Amino acid sequence: MSDQDSVIEWFLENQRDLPWRKSTPWGVLVSEFMLQQTPVNRVLPKWKEWMDRWPTPPDLAQATSGEVIKAWDRLGYPRRALRLYESAQVITANHDGQVPSTYEELLALPGVGDYTAGAILSFAFSTRAVVLDTNVRRVITRWHQGEEFPHSSLSKAERALAEELIPKRSALWAGATMELGALICTAKKPQCSECPLRETCAWRAAGYPAGTPMRTQGKWHGSDRQCRGTIMAAIRQGVSTLSEISWTDEEQLFRCIAALKAEKLLTQVGKQLSLPS
Ligand code: SF4
Repeated sequence: MSDQDSVIEWFLENQRDLPWRKSTPWGVLVSEFMLQQTPVNRVLPKWKEWMDRWPTPPDLAQATSGEVIKAWDRLGYPRRALRLYESAQVITANHDGQVPSTYEELLALPGVGDYTAGAILSFAFSTRAVVLDTNVRRVITRWHQGEEFPHSSLSKAERALAEELIPKRSALWAGATMELGALICTAKKPQCSECPLRETCAWRAAGYPAGTPMRTQGKWHGSDRQCRGTIMAAIRQGVSTLSEISWTDEEQLFRCIAALKAEKLLTQVGKQLSLPS
């Protein structure tokens, strides 16, 4: 059995039961937007809620941007909600309400980059595609390059290697390598004894030489991200004036409000703040 087959067989026995794996192309697209910067356990309830409320792109396209931002709730990085909303509008207007199935058409949707286009092709349409998220990159780097972590930017060589490794059962391979990176070949504590690649893993064979972790997000406390999250949470909960937002650094508060307004995530009239309508 090839290494790829071993990984796929491991996946078929051990994969988590995630609802978007049995969903429509739209369900896959929604999950990919939500999972871009948010862990699975936080995405699960929100994805279910979202799909109940807006089961197709035309359903979401009819909502207001304020409703969409409110429904995004605490998933973080609410720009993704607006991009998803805009994607629903483009799909409704240009693709008869159906998620398109070519790389070029997917890449033309707001908020869809190379990774997301590949993931949708693979998971929604079972089309052969390179799907390289952080987890997959870590698995391939350890298994093939003998290094603990991938470089911060994706190189042409790394992409070519990933493409070369895709087996016939490409969609299962994409899901399997993501799952292996999420559950077994984790960043901090890989469980090599349970890994289907343990006999051929170059990093394991080399005795686990230490690498340089990819850059992680800076501290949360006091950051602009926390300030923006505090503002958006307050407004979603009905706070409408600047003075009601509890944040001590006034300069930072004004800067973050200006950025949120520029990104069309909130509107301001005088001291009154609200979600866009
Ligand atoms: S053997 Fe260990 S380090 Fe190598 S791919 Fe498997 S889990 Fe990762």
